[in-house]
Amino acid sequence: MASKSNVQGAIQPPPVLSDSHHSGISQRLLEEAKASKSRLYSNRTVSSVTARKGELPVLPPDTTREKFNAAIDELQKILGSQHVVLNDKPLEDGWYIEHPNTHDAFHILDPNDTVSSAIVYPGSTEEVSAVVKWANKHEIPLWPISMGRNLGYGGAAPRVRGSIVLDLGKRMNKVLKIDPDQCSCMVEPGVSYYKLYEEVKKSGYPLWIDPPDLGGGSVLGNAVDRGVGYTPYGDHFGNHCGMEVVLPNGEVIRTGMGALPGPNGTDNPTWQAFQYGYGPYADGIFTQSNFGIVTKMGFWLMPETEHLTFMVTFPKDDDFEEIIETIRPLMIKRILGNVPQLRHVIQELAVTGKNREAFYQGQGQMPREVIRQHASKMPCGDCSWVFYGSLYGTQKQIQDTLEIVKKEFYKIQGARFLFPNDVPEDHYLHSRVRVCSGVAEIRELDWLNWKKNAGHLFFAPICPTRREDSRKILDIVSRIHKEYGFDLFPTYCIANREMHLIVNIVYDRGSEENKRKAVAAIRKMIDECAKAGYGEYRTHILLADQVAHTYGWNNQAMLRFHETIKDSLDPNGILAPGRNGIWPKKYRGKGWELLYGDNRQTSAPKTESKL
Ligand code: ADP
Repeated sequence: MASKSNVQGAIQPPPVLSDSHHSGISQRLLEEAKASKSRLYSNRTVSSVTARKGELPVLPPDTTREKFNAAIDELQKILGSQHVVLNDKPLEDGWYIEHPNTHDAFHILDPNDTVSSAIVYPGSTEEVSAVVKWANKHEIPLWPISMGRNLGYGGAAPRVRGSIVLDLGKRMNKVLKIDPDQCSCMVEPGVSYYKLYEEVKKSGYPLWIDPPDLGGGSVLGNAVDRGVGYTPYGDHFGNHCGMEVVLPNGEVIRTGMGALPGPNGTDNPTWQAFQYGYGPYADGIFTQSNFGIVTKMGFWLMPETEHLTFMVTFPKDDDFEEIIETIRPLMIKRILGNVPQLRHVIQELAVTGKNREAFYQGQGQMPREVIRQHASKMPCGDCSWVFYGSLYGTQKQIQDTLEIVKKEFYKIQGARFLFPNDVPEDHYLHSRVRVCSGVAEIRELDWLNWKKNAGHLFFAPICPTRREDSRKILDIVSRIHKEYGFDLFPTYCIANREMHLIVNIVYDRGSEENKRKAVAAIRKMIDECAKAGYGEYRTHILLADQVAHTYGWNNQAMLRFHETIKDSLDPNGILAPGRNGIWPKKYRGKGWELLYGDNRQTSAPKTESKL
């Protein structure tokens, strides 16, 4: 990636979304992206380029350079040499839009620890299948990515050093279908939310997409990793319909109704209409797993509707228990229209895009009093918690529902509603309005300016929507953040019957000490929350073993079940070994698993960083 940091030279404008730049920014967001990039780069104090060590490219496990070179020659003949690129250059972190596919841009170790040997760009499902067969022949591990952003979870980095990254998105990035009658679409791996948004707009159909906070991820990749968004269709896996998958032996299957051929060789007309088909429901095993490579995926699109997104502020830090109790029935009865967020007021400071030094120059956590002083001067005022929620339907339905919501929230003393017209044009609420009505955005990136050279790690356990649990879990994460000196950014994302408490650790990638502390803090939170019954819904590739082991009921019965499937589908262990803590037989018990506190080595037996 060709970007240059402020310590190296002028800042280039980011690439715009086009046929040759599937991962570019939408033209409509270009100016915002330029400003965002320049803010981020002005916050860099160290080079974002890492020199390489040793002989390159690094090799996959259990192979010699001679064998590897011969295998690569063969692969170049299958795909064309321009589609097989060795990973032997310095590692550039880039930034959100110009993200690398060579390593984890938000490294929590030395970036050299989780690198691939090469990157391969297949152009079709048939080519993916051919690469898989080649990998089986040479027993070289593959790591499929769709867009490869996945920041905070490992980026494009493979879990096993020297794996071949299969970058599906570069050449497989078409919106294959938008069906205005069924309100559905079918996409390839390289379709970002930016692209799907533009294509739906171009089609003229009155349909919404469902973007996450940032629109640069792959629609398919996000659903495969069970990510979420903020319209009523926010459960991305729950709103998918049908997949095409290349199995680890190279065979191609279609799930759901896709398994039933349509007339005259066409795709089944209900492939994107009915999720289950006949027999066991297979789709789930291709999410958060390493059992297959998804090459096509169908999604339901929401019909356009009227909507209202608003904020409610609450005065006291202790109010959150009462707020959670108030939200639970509103969610279970589906009165609130999307998964709302309850954020601590510190985040109103963070979403301004300013470095924390603009608010506070001291070390350690920002004192509550300092947050209060700054919040008092902002539209949210001197408050403690800020609720962002949305309502959908006709204007009349929205107004009627709003009355119910107001009545409930006003029971909490000092609750104050703020609507888009109440805040300045550049306020974050306007960005929430867009995200919650299906517009892919870039604003959320501003968070990252909180620290210099910032990277972030997500911690997001599942917790009952109950007063006592909201307290217990907040106590755990608050104590651990305090111990390690990180500002705490808690957000309760409240779904119908549970909530995710999302805390985002923002760390300085330029400081080994800060990276070490970020990892130590998240490991401790995973451990302590699991002991209280709160499990992570998704995690970083290097924390996957720890999280998988927390789901250990009945002597790790679930993990053993996953391993049984893995060994049967992938006897040579070529597909994404270690993803989600699932190791193929060949690797199991040989020191690859990284558990909490065992101080074992990281991604390959010869790396030196400790995790
Ligand atoms: P993002 O949408 O954030 O850019 P990625 O493309 O990096 O996400 O995907 C996230 C993770 O999901 C990848 O690291 C990989 O493990 C898995 N994944 C992504 N796409 C596929 C796919 N098409 N088939 C199987 N696994 C995938």
